[in-house]
Amino acid sequence: FAVFGRENMAMQSRLSGAIQDDSLQVFYQPIVDAGTGAVLALETLARWPDGKGGWVSPELFIPLAEKNGLIQELSGRVLERGLGQLACWRQAGLTQPITVNISRSQLYSTSFVADMLGRLSGFGLRPHDIILEITESVALTDHARQMKHLRQLVEAGFRIAIDDFGTGYSSLSQLHEMPIQFIKIDSAFAQRLHAEDGRAVMHAIVQLAQLLKLKIVAEGIETREVAQCLQRMGVRGMQGFYYSEPVPAAVAELMLRLGVTPKSSH
Ligand code: C2E
Ligand code: MG
Ligand code: MG
Repeated sequence: FAVFGRENMAMQSRLSGAIQDDSLQVFYQPIVDAGTGAVLALETLARWPDGKGGWVSPELFIPLAEKNGLIQELSGRVLERGLGQLACWRQAGLTQPITVNISRSQLYSTSFVADMLGRLSGFGLRPHDIILEITESVALTDHARQMKHLRQLVEAGFRIAIDDFGTGYSSLSQLHEMPIQFIKIDSAFAQRLHAEDGRAVMHAIVQLAQLLKLKIVAEGIETREVAQCLQRMGVRGMQGFYYSEPVPAAVAELMLRLGVTPKSSH
């Protein structure tokens, strides 16, 4: 435990340093219209170079940043990068939105809406240019409080996607009251489509979303078989390594222009 604690501390101070000197980067992963290959949106994902030619996993440093109060600053840096890039793409005539992952403490912060609006207008952008991804476990728990925050965001013109849908502790009875436009079905469900019960569960989620008039993005699409199975169920929005891994801005820009051709075999 002592070793773990010390390592944690070391990592925390390195992360803090990386945020200060702005060495965090942003990669973009396309959300693709499976019917046409067009890019519907790009998800912004934080990337931290480990100094040895690789990357520290966000699964490690995002929770650490959340625990140690660094997440607000980290998110601010990621957002500045993403918005700066988006402003360039708008200048170049590209119209797709980016999605931004929002963590619990950001959503709770009372200045969040004003802060977001301020940052956007600094780049000549509007709320409609971005989609806020909020994890299901954050969006659908502490219902009354979150509802108020989500309503404020929607009133300000932001669109909201429930991220990692199906993994939280949400009550389905609340879903229809939520001011949201998209659900991103967690990759765990795409991974179970080879089994009949897996397909049945996915089918039920898709029907529920359609009934509530929510747009669907299926996450973690790694093979053509999975993509085709989902298309047969009526899902169009797809994200995953079969289409593209998260890529730097220059590569993402080509995808915005030309669409995505899925990997031929996998
Ligand atoms: P997420 O928002 O659900 O992002 C999707 C994750 O799935 C990304 O992992 C992406 O690289 C990965 N992924 C995409 N397609 C596939 C696939 O086909 N197969 C597999 N196995 N994985 C796939 P990543 O970049 O490691 O990020 C992990 C999580 O960290 C994200 O999950 C998000 O919750 C969080 N995160 C990343 N960047 C940020 C950020 O800037 N701010 C906040 N608050 N959270 C972030
Ligand atoms: Mg996300
Ligand atoms: Mg997700």
